[in-house]
Amino acid sequence: MVKIFKTVIEFEIFHQTNNKSIGFVPTMGNLHLGHISLLEKALEQNEIAIISIYVNPTQFAANEDLDKYPRTWNEDLEKITNLSNDFPNKEVIIFYPESDAQIYPNGKDTTYTHKKLRSILEGEVRPEHFDGVTSVVKRLFEITRPTIAYFGKKDFQQYIIIKDMVKEINLPVKVVAMPIIRESDGLAMSSRNRFLDHGQRQKALILNKSLKEIQQILTLDLKKARQHANKLIINDNNWNYLEVRNAKDLKLASETDQHIVILGNYQLGNTRLLDNLEVEK
Ligand code: AMP
Repeated sequence: MVKIFKTVIEFEIFHQTNNKSIGFVPTMGNLHLGHISLLEKALEQNEIAIISIYVNPTQFAANEDLDKYPRTWNEDLEKITNLSNDFPNKEVIIFYPESDAQIYPNGKDTTYTHKKLRSILEGEVRPEHFDGVTSVVKRLFEITRPTIAYFGKKDFQQYIIIKDMVKEINLPVKVVAMPIIRESDGLAMSSRNRFLDHGQRQKALILNKSLKEIQQILTLDLKKARQHANKLIINDNNWNYLEVRNAKDLKLASETDQHIVILGNYQLGNTRLLDNLEVEK
């Protein structure tokens, strides 16, 4: 069964009597199989799943694609309904806020800042981005009160930042990370892939291919892996970054690190493509 809540008050009423476990998946809509894999896990592991569809204005800078961000409510509803039919004994609530005021009743202020990681990698090019992400997720947690919240590793830095926030301010929710869902040719699924023209779609494969090359070298030699990443960047100015970091705290990886992540961002026209690969040594 699928219900749609558009206001905070509906959640307040719902929580008054609910004693079931809640799995929560925050999204900006334009759902693809990556999002659906998160919702499926939420339904498997909880009695109720909540998915929010909200294009959060505070995580977009003035020059970014807030207005152009794809909004596909009818298709999204259909995908969620199809999945929920596979779970006849469970309930899905879609949170589709009717206005920004539902999320930001006191104006669009930042309510949490992750000082250490807000300015590296994605944050270097998008200085306000993570303040918007943490603030909206914190607010959505307040509204939906989840037992477990699900995040894709596609946005690896976002996942680490949210996990840290939950720990630091002691929010009563467990954060679970889910694997990256890819197209058959390796491109990570993303709502922004639809902006790629035919030539760009072909070129986009460089991102995952490069991560794999670095991953292979990294299993033998960190220094050589880093040299390879630097060579790739120097030869192709579409790279916004391509870095080898510790997967726990995103510090630059060192020889003793066991769990490493290679993170890349590749620019094609106005589209920033994000991907990463983890390596266990
Ligand atoms: P978004 O709608 O882009 O904000 O994404 C909502 C959630 O879906 C985030 O936790 C993302 O990391 C996750 N997500 C997006 N794309 C993928 C993907 N290809 N595989 C797995 N999770 C994803």
